[in-house]
Amino acid sequence: MAISRIYDVVIIGGGLAGLTCALHLSRKGVDVLLIEKNTYPHHKVCGEYVSNEVLPYLKSLDIHPLTEGAVPISSLEITNPNNKKLHTELPLGGFGLSRYYFDNLLFEKMKETSDVVFKTVDTILFQKDFFSITTQDNTNFRAKFVVGAHGKRSNIDRKLKRNFIKQKSSWLAVKAHYKYDFPADTVALHTFKGGYCGLSKTETGGVNACYLTTYNSFKKFKGIEDFQKNNMSENPNLNQFFSEAIPIFDSPLTIGQISFQPKKPIENHIFMIGDSAGLIHPLCGNGMAMAIHSAKLFSELFLKQYKNNKIDRNILEKEYENQWNYTFSKRLKTGRYIQKLLMNDTTANIGFSLLNTFPSLLNTIINKTHGTPIKNA
Ligand SMILES: Cc1cc2nc3c(=O)[nH]c(=O)nc-3n(C[C@H](O)[C@H](O)[C@H](O)COP(=O)(O)OP(=O)(O)OC[C@H]3O[C@@H](n4cnc5c(N)ncnc54)[C@H](O)[C@@H]3O)c2cc1C
Repeated sequence: MAISRIYDVVIIGGGLAGLTCALHLSRKGVDVLLIEKNTYPHHKVCGEYVSNEVLPYLKSLDIHPLTEGAVPISSLEITNPNNKKLHTELPLGGFGLSRYYFDNLLFEKMKETSDVVFKTVDTILFQKDFFSITTQDNTNFRAKFVVGAHGKRSNIDRKLKRNFIKQKSSWLAVKAHYKYDFPADTVALHTFKGGYCGLSKTETGGVNACYLTTYNSFKKFKGIEDFQKNNMSENPNLNQFFSEAIPIFDSPLTIGQISFQPKKPIENHIFMIGDSAGLIHPLCGNGMAMAIHSAKLFSELFLKQYKNNKIDRNILEKEYENQWNYTFSKRLKTGRYIQKLLMNDTTANIGFSLLNTFPSLLNTIINKTHGTPIKNA
């Protein structure tokens, strides 16, 4: 009987976290397979503002967003329905790049050194120190280690009976690209009753509009158009946007059941990276940087032991859990806290007044939810 190949690492999910991890590990000689359910390129619901903290690390992986046409962004504007405005220069800055382009850029690079298959993973079994991974078409793969990079919510989370999946989540998000006259150096966050909408330019010259809102707010309206016109447009900045902007997509992309509940970075010996380890509230604007950073954390800890030809699973698990908590836990907590304040009319108004009086507070908040530049691989 033929013995099937055993990969060093199988990565499930090829978003920014999975692609970065596959690229990092396979370039150092690790035998990696990435399993992704969708082919590239594809659009994703995302604000598409990426914090510059990832630039040095991406450069070390030979990924150069700015020379690929990403739009440098240095200013943040926040407004509310009363047209109160806050403006600040972003301490680190960032860039605008569509997920359509960004994920594909990483995919094209990682496939030079890593295996990839396009299938949906159904089950992951851990037995006798090995993993058996079965896809929905009943193909089986074997691995010594598995990395879960399957994003915010996946069939895999249900199979693993993860805690967050048992609780209903009240958030949904909508995203589309538009033709609209908008300053290239700015990311705007316009709040409205029950949510907020981010606007920023991408490499196409189009403006990405992506909003997050609660089901309770959304369900009072007849659909996306009605919601945009009769709820979001109470903010004069969004009113102007939706009256003048010309849609580029045939229809907006939507996702539901978005959970910001805490998750465990390791479940059933699977190392979770990116959103599958924890999703930060998008108003903090750095979930993508965290996805990339967590891929680096895992890759470096794995390679440290791999060099010696012997990996102690227990030590790797302890080290990853500690490093993950040390690097991200506080940021996620701060994100949840700010989200709560912003979604309550009274505290949001007090917050706007406070920040207008003490503008340096806004930079303190940004620093608390963002990292520092991630060092090279
Ligand atoms: C509304 C909204 C706006 C946001 N705006 C921003 C922003 O402006 N800036 C920012 O930095 N972050 C933002 N984020 C966060 C950011 O989008 C995520 O943090 C980031 O996409 C995480 O990347 P990931 O690789 O972990 O997950 P994903 O990019 O979601 O990738 C997961 C991949 O796994 C695949 N997959 C899932 N299940 C399976 C399976 N069973 N088998 C095979 N493949 C599977 C999926 O197809 C997918 O490609 C936003 C999030 C939301 C919800």
